[in-house]
Amino acid sequence: MPKKFTFRGGVHPNHCKSQTERLAIETFPAPPIAVIPLSQHIGAPAKALVQKGERVLLGQMIGEPDGNVSAAMHSSVSGTVLSVKPFAHPSGRLVTAIEIENDGADEPEPFEPIGQSWRDLSSGELIQKIAACGVVGMGGASFPTHVKLSPPSSKPIDTLLINGAECEPYLTNDSRVMIERTDDILTGVQILKKILGAKNVYFGIENNKQDAINAIYDRVTGSRFNDIALAVLKSKYPQGSEKMLITAITKRKVPSGGLPMDIGCVVQNATTALAVYEAVMYGVPLYRRVITVTGAGVRSPKNLLVRIGTPVRSILEACGADIAAAKKVVMGGPMMGIALSDLDVPIIKHTSGLLALDQATDAVRKYPCISCGMCVSSCPTRLVPSKIAKFVEKENFDEAVKWNLMDCVECGSCVYTCPAKINLVHFFKVGKMRVRAAGAAQK
Ligand code: SF4
Ligand code: SF4
Repeated sequence: MPKKFTFRGGVHPNHCKSQTERLAIETFPAPPIAVIPLSQHIGAPAKALVQKGERVLLGQMIGEPDGNVSAAMHSSVSGTVLSVKPFAHPSGRLVTAIEIENDGADEPEPFEPIGQSWRDLSSGELIQKIAACGVVGMGGASFPTHVKLSPPSSKPIDTLLINGAECEPYLTNDSRVMIERTDDILTGVQILKKILGAKNVYFGIENNKQDAINAIYDRVTGSRFNDIALAVLKSKYPQGSEKMLITAITKRKVPSGGLPMDIGCVVQNATTALAVYEAVMYGVPLYRRVITVTGAGVRSPKNLLVRIGTPVRSILEACGADIAAAKKVVMGGPMMGIALSDLDVPIIKHTSGLLALDQATDAVRKYPCISCGMCVSSCPTRLVPSKIAKFVEKENFDEAVKWNLMDCVECGSCVYTCPAKINLVHFFKVGKMRVRAAGAAQK
């Protein structure tokens, strides 16, 4: 087995994965009504292609990308469009969405499979297929994958890293996909490798996921996947953050304010590689995904294959969640996920999990800072979180930027270790938003 890789800083929260790590993926029924938001990614919302009363097919493109950084949307059911109007979104905003009444027939759009002949396609043709299928990063950031696979020619990529770290507590959706769809993911990785022309390919998995490590190890040693190297990572949060993954495996550092492509790297999540496989081999768009449903408030935790657009409430209820008793329902992991105030929002492309938790941790400030320095030692990007938060609180954004506010990856490690329970990430999110807004206003 390969040596274990790691990075400086970070924290060791309880894994809390035992409830679901051995549970095979089950298919959740399609919803009677699917609500597909036109914004499920970083960048401009998609433009609606359908109107009220129109019939749509399963997998039909119902929203086209609007601009260079945008993504296509597809129907997750066959049926009739009920409305195109603003709906509650997991982010807490109102976002235009397409509401579709499911006719229960699952009549599919005629997909265009190309199977093994993907090897004969050019990078540009492969990228076009990925874009047409609306693939975005499924590990949380939801950046359109076709854009990430198109770095400028001045930034050649020699290293592709596949992120199977799944360092957020509770979540086991990526692990189950790695175990149950191993060959499909690895084929997706080979497609990504061909597109980027990358010489080196590393598949990073944390050492607390032995079943996933075994599954990948068995296939990358002495098989048609032996151009992919397994990199076992020490289990530590936020090992799955792009910058940490790159540093741990390659020892390269993304420069302050820079991107992985500046140092010849591209990172893709393991489940995104599966979506790339389905898009290229079978022409199947991203209309479903695997999520973990767990937490102290869930009676029957599960890993579920769900349609995009399924209401959160229906999934929690089906898993026996005591919604009234839960102190907090989170979409995603407990460190970086979004606390939901409305449970009728839909599952979107980057929903990795639903957690019903019995502890609320939303307070912005609980006690005064005692200058203990714990946040400094836990920060994987070597920031001074206490200082930056104070500058943001005083609205001194120039100083906050000088102390590298914009390099914060919002991982929450500082909050996890802070004995005063100060929600530092809240200050960083607000600070970054204000700095970006000021920059946009100047332009
Ligand atoms: S300052 Fe940002 S990057 Fe550093 S630990 Fe806190 S949230 Fe993570
Ligand atoms: S960990 Fe909390 S209390 Fe300690 S220095 Fe950082 S912000 Fe202050």
